[in-house]
Amino acid sequence: MIVDRLGRSFRNLRVSLTAACNYACTYCVPDGKRLLKARDELPADELLKAVDYLIDAAGIDKVRITGGEPLVTPKFDEFLLGVMQLPLDDVSLTTNGQLLLKKKDVIAESGLRRMNISLDTLNPMRFKSIARGGDLETVLAGIDAMLELGLKIKINMVPMRSQNAAEVVPLLEYCLERGIELRYIELMRMGHLLGSQGFAADFMSMEALLDLIGERYEFERTDAPYDSTAVRFEIPEQGTFGIIANESEPFCKACTRLRLSSDGNLYGCLSSANKHYIGDLIDQPRYAALPKLQKILHNALDDKKLAFQGEVTVMKLIGG
Ligand code: SAM
Repeated sequence: MIVDRLGRSFRNLRVSLTAACNYACTYCVPDGKRLLKARDELPADELLKAVDYLIDAAGIDKVRITGGEPLVTPKFDEFLLGVMQLPLDDVSLTTNGQLLLKKKDVIAESGLRRMNISLDTLNPMRFKSIARGGDLETVLAGIDAMLELGLKIKINMVPMRSQNAAEVVPLLEYCLERGIELRYIELMRMGHLLGSQGFAADFMSMEALLDLIGERYEFERTDAPYDSTAVRFEIPEQGTFGIIANESEPFCKACTRLRLSSDGNLYGCLSSANKHYIGDLIDQPRYAALPKLQKILHNALDDKKLAFQGEVTVMKLIGG
């Protein structure tokens, strides 16, 4: 295992199947333009081979499938079924939920046990103005379908003062009623938000969120795994929620995340534009590829910061 001076190593791999997305969320991108040409993206079998090599080279034991929107690409079925066969402790998926009904059968067949679904609002009009694509009813039906399959669901919400602050508590209630853990993601200074005035105006801190929730519920801080991105809270007898507090309580010192973009680049840190191309190693036999991969992983680990500093790279390009 490759370890840095803070004891950090790579264990969690996020694989972006595609940079394409059927949404253009206001906080993610300035418009809906495609960020990578489809021909520059690796096919499912090469992404699977990369994961397989990274399990050996880095000690990866958890994989999250993400994007872009992972369900928009035809690669999704092959990748999901393939990754579930690899020797991993955990596989999960992050999706905006728009295509979950269409993918219900392959998800059931794969044996996937858990997923995060992004949902910033329960108001159809606001949904259109934040996501700039898709529709709310389809996502809600997709969530119900996944609950019916027995999957463990978390919902990701990005609270913003000018857009959905009034829904911090209603979304929590929606989740508590369904046994879903809500994850509030503090707005991150990425892409066009880096250095923008809009970021400061819209940012809601962990403290602001807890104040709002505290008006309605009593809660206490509860355990989170060592390398969890979220600070977790329990509302006695009702459920739990979490806050991914990049700004208020950065988790960088215990970060074990590695990202593989759909065009074959490794990123060691969300707050660094440094990328390390491994697409050419996938064609090589394991004995030749692994030592080269380990060298690259050392460099990628060096990219890890001590605090989130913001990043001009767009989240959907490197896998949120
Ligand atoms: N398309 C999938 C989805 O919507 O869940 C996966 C990719 S998306 C980039 C992953 C997560 O990143 C989403 O939950 C989204 O809300 C979050 N995200 C994107 N840009 C963000 C930003 N600037 N600040 C906070 N969260 C952001």
